[in-house]
Amino acid sequence: MAEMIDPFGRAINYLRVSVTDRCDFRCVYCMSEDMTFLPKAQILSLEELERVCDAFVRLGVRKLRMTGGEPLVRRNIISLFRGLSRHLKSGALDELTLTTNGSQLDRFAQDLADLGMRRINVSLDTLNPDKFAAITRWGKFDKVMAGLQAAKAAGLKVKINTVALKGVNDDEFDRMIAWCGDEGFDLTFIEVMPMGDIGGENRVDQYLPLSVLRGRLRENWTLEENDHKTGGPARYMSVRETGGRLGFITPMTHNFCESCNRVRLTCTGTLYMCLGQEDAADLRAPLRESDDDALLDGAIHDAIARKPKGHDFIIDRNHQGPAVGRHMSVTGG
Ligand code: SAM
Ligand code: SF4
Repeated sequence: MAEMIDPFGRAINYLRVSVTDRCDFRCVYCMSEDMTFLPKAQILSLEELERVCDAFVRLGVRKLRMTGGEPLVRRNIISLFRGLSRHLKSGALDELTLTTNGSQLDRFAQDLADLGMRRINVSLDTLNPDKFAAITRWGKFDKVMAGLQAAKAAGLKVKINTVALKGVNDDEFDRMIAWCGDEGFDLTFIEVMPMGDIGGENRVDQYLPLSVLRGRLRENWTLEENDHKTGGPARYMSVRETGGRLGFITPMTHNFCESCNRVRLTCTGTLYMCLGQEDAADLRAPLRESDDDALLDGAIHDAIARKPKGHDFIIDRNHQGPAVGRHMSVTGG
């Protein structure tokens, strides 16, 4: 079996792919309202995206996560998933999955399940429709709720991702744990990360350390250590009262780099070896230069050989600018 091993001995077997930088929401911590999107010519076609994913699978990737922007707003995206699902059937891939804002799930959930997706991540920061409108600016709460029910009905396992925002949704976390328990969803809290210019919003104001949150949750819930590991930055616990799994993603206060097994591809074909660092490799040029995959495979190997040991996010209190200039919607979270 092919394997990609980086200079620190980590096997790289997980690729996250941002299939578009566009989105039908404008979440306050992710984008400014008048976000400028990339020119279409810079974006990889669905065929090109499939070719790069095929190369990564051939080189040892076992898990693909599609993200964005909002992956389900890209026209014909199901055709890409359909193409990639053949790797599930052949056994070359263990998992094909998706991170979505849920807005299009009522249309697509059954198709996704039919293609062999088993679990999806759905981002939802609040159960209050007014707050939902304030956070997402353009999102429709009822549509997301309908999407979640469609996912359940299609048999998809759902994990809710909630960004913890001080003074915005921090009075709702107990309710979210209870609701996820009732619905049979797992839940992960994410610390807000300093990525991309978001206009007038202030990240220091938004930042809520999850160590504080965990302490607060223990007043109402029995959190038990859970050895569930994904190779990712999440730490999982079990909530005894609901039986549900609760994760915490703490890129700011914890170092999870030692076990990092992933790289990220943007919709323009740029490969980031680390979420928190600027070094990147262009895969679009080798992809477009030749129909043969030798150049592409070579570029991927060169990139993995440069994967850094770790990252360093800092919300700068003096300058309050992003530590990493690109937006999460470009790198795909
Ligand atoms: N649009 C899809 C969604 O919202 O799930 C997929 C892309 S979105 C960029 C992926 C995840 O990144 C979402 O869970 C979102 O909440 C999270 N995210 C975006 N900006 C973030 C930030 N500055 N800090 C922490 N998480 C962020
Ligand atoms: Fe869109 Fe996801 Fe960013 Fe919200 S977090 S604006 S849904 S890409």
